[in-house]
Amino acid sequence: MVRNKFCFTVLREGKGTLVNVVAFVTDRQKAGTPFEGHWVSDVSREEFEEAFQNFESAAKNLIKCCENPTRWALHVVNELPLSTCDRVALIGDACHAMTPHLGAGGGHAIEDAFVLGRLLAHPLTTLDNVHVALETYQDIRLSVAQFTARKSEALGHMYEFNAPGYYDGTDRGNEGEELERLKEKIIEDRRGWEGEGGAVAGWLKAERKLQESIVIVERW
Ligand SMILES: Cc1cc2nc3c(=O)[nH]c(=O)nc-3n(C[C@H](O)[C@H](O)[C@H](O)COP(=O)(O)OP(=O)(O)OC[C@H]3O[C@@H](n4cnc5c(N)ncnc54)[C@H](O)[C@@H]3O)c2cc1C
Repeated sequence: MVRNKFCFTVLREGKGTLVNVVAFVTDRQKAGTPFEGHWVSDVSREEFEEAFQNFESAAKNLIKCCENPTRWALHVVNELPLSTCDRVALIGDACHAMTPHLGAGGGHAIEDAFVLGRLLAHPLTTLDNVHVALETYQDIRLSVAQFTARKSEALGHMYEFNAPGYYDGTDRGNEGEELERLKEKIIEDRRGWEGEGGAVAGWLKAERKLQESIVIVERW
């Protein structure tokens, strides 16, 4: 089953004259399989138009204005049990690449670097106990990023009307009502996620944990 989704954002750059068009073509049969071919490639305008030929004219007119469209493969890293081992740590997409439906992968890469960098630079961290700093980073950041990845994937399904219990494209004679409930669910889920602590709260938690762990290790 292939589902298409269309969205666009107006960038402030270029004094609001630039429109960034993002259009998704989802083939669920291919989820979880390795991607063959180039991760980013040029596509012709015809191919782009073809994929969205059943859309309303406003969307199709926007596609006609696109110069040099490119296709991006979407990759995810499924839940890793660890993000550190000995003195090695993974951050960002290498550790938790996620779908772009929450626009959060870049932010999480930055938050990983923020927390890890501060832990490594902390006066309590030494070469001998660097593994404690890395484990603290893992404890604080891994589950948060993986939670967001799950949320992003779930929202992606909902954006594409693949939301059993809300709306999944089946005609039950109450489409308007189902779409309204789906809209409310999406708004609620996005709001719930945006309320999560953030980078500074994550860092404060990490620093407390580092202090406790290093005191415990030294006493031991
Ligand atoms: C279509 C799309 C839309 C997105 N939209 C958003 C959004 O709106 N907001 C958001 O927050 N996130 C978004 N993301 C996700 C975001 O782009 C990534 O989460 C983010 O770029 C991850 O940063 P990173 O530094 O971990 O990895 P990357 O950005 O992939 O950086 C890794 C770098 O390492 C380099 N590299 C790889 N191998 C080697 C090597 N052997 N030696 C040296 N260098 C190497 C690569 O060339 C690359 O420059 C989107 C992603 C996609 C695909």
